[in-house]
Amino acid sequence: MKPVTTSSHAPPKIGAEETRTLRNYIGGGWQSASGPEVLEDRDPVSGQVAALVPLSGETEVDAAVRTAREAQPAWREVAPQRRARAIMRLRHELSERREELARLVTDDMGKTFDDALGEVGRGIESVEAACAIPHLLKGENLEGVARGVDVEQIRQPVGVVAAITPFNFPAMIPLWFLPFALACGNGFVLKPSERDPRPAELIFEVIDGIEEIPAGICNLVHGARDAVNALLGHPEVDAVSFVGQASTARYVSERAAATGKRCQALGGAKNSLVVMPDADLEPTVSGIMGSAFGAAGQRCLAGSVAVLVGNQERQDEVRDALVAAASELRVGPGADEGTDVCALVGPDARERLAAALDRAEGGGEGGEILLDGRETDPGPAGTMVGPSIVDGVDRESELAREELFGPLLTLVRVPDLDGALEFVNGSRYGNAGSIFTTSGDAAREYRYGVEAGMIGVNVGVAAPIAWFPFSGWKDSLEGDLHANGRDAVEFYTRKKVITSRWR
Ligand code: NAD
Repeated sequence: MKPVTTSSHAPPKIGAEETRTLRNYIGGGWQSASGPEVLEDRDPVSGQVAALVPLSGETEVDAAVRTAREAQPAWREVAPQRRARAIMRLRHELSERREELARLVTDDMGKTFDDALGEVGRGIESVEAACAIPHLLKGENLEGVARGVDVEQIRQPVGVVAAITPFNFPAMIPLWFLPFALACGNGFVLKPSERDPRPAELIFEVIDGIEEIPAGICNLVHGARDAVNALLGHPEVDAVSFVGQASTARYVSERAAATGKRCQALGGAKNSLVVMPDADLEPTVSGIMGSAFGAAGQRCLAGSVAVLVGNQERQDEVRDALVAAASELRVGPGADEGTDVCALVGPDARERLAAALDRAEGGGEGGEILLDGRETDPGPAGTMVGPSIVDGVDRESELAREELFGPLLTLVRVPDLDGALEFVNGSRYGNAGSIFTTSGDAAREYRYGVEAGMIGVNVGVAAPIAWFPFSGWKDSLEGDLHANGRDAVEFYTRKKVITSRWR
């Protein structure tokens, strides 16, 4: 997106109506950013400007971090069970506005309404999981380590934590972090994606109405790189949770390390779906359709490579079934009932995907494009692209190995499960993977040997529920601790060990 410089804070006129400029939420109130630069948040279907996103910088970040720092000591004093009640209230209020939030996700990011409802439901599950904080915060002890000496370990909040989140789950991913950070007794600052920040704004509207969450403890700063760099460079930020592309995750984790911050940075993915010769064809194909083409492939758990195991006859049978099913998928606006493949987040995403297909076609990678999404009318915003399926590419090619984040499925053929594992484990990523089979033995061998953190057995999108960690491996995670589950509590607390002798 191109920065637009406005001479004052008056937003430009778009059509008959004024487009509003989003405001930051700092210290319990809505504040305009100080600088004139804004980005356009465009409707992914119509291309119309829906809102202007201020490019906050050091001034706004400093205000948000300082207010969180000032509010944090009193918040830490609030008993864990009372903090849990504040989070329960958040759960209640978000549930009341679940449909509204889902509609906003569809409008701003583009995914279908059903998918958006699922996203919001998943986000609310993270809030529910954080309600167990009095249990999750409990420490450990060991008595009598020497005569009259006991040892106990307690957990204390890390202080002020920042979350920097991506466009593809604009409601769920902020909710992976916010409830756990608050429940653990921290101050919190969210920097949502600049591409679709309106669901985050609604979440903060909800927070604004919850008196149990005190002013200043939970803050929202809109912006892009400058805001991220200001958070990473701020001495009062103690920990950073990040989700986004692998290259950004690496950058964020390196900067955080250089400034002495705790960091968890969840990166990109290239997930493979292994289809064994004994797999039940119909549910397998249906699972792969949802995984590869749901949300137009814009999920970190999307299966973008189908690894067809067996002899050529069986591989061709699976290929034909996949192409037939994908040809039936309806491409359209996420708000339309019956849409299977929604718009991409912006025209740049379509261009990137089309360019990769062009390269595969012209670059001698040996691929055969069985279904070509480039033929779909790009629509007014240039964001519509149909499903593509490519067979026979080089195994180390861009289409087989790089994350392209669109509705593209690459087929790779291998003779047996060993060959499948060799291909899958050759990836630099290790976010997720699935096997489709009717053999318990094959499933066990796969789950034992596969180098990825979220594994599906006859499940296309192996998304863990919020009581478990979201557990990518390799370049899909920089750091040790994952989002959600007990890992979230580990990340947002520091351990203290007390050795006591009472005479
Ligand atoms: P992105 O990396 O472009 O942006 C993520 C965040 O980083 C945004 O808030 C953005 O403002 C900021 N940012 C981007 N470039 C930056 C830079 N150079 N310097 C500082 N800050 C920068 O990611 P995206 O395109 O919004 O999201 C899609 C990516 O996220 C995909 O790669 C997807 O796989 C990944 N993702 C991973 C997971 C996971 O759990 N591993 C979950 C969801 C999405």
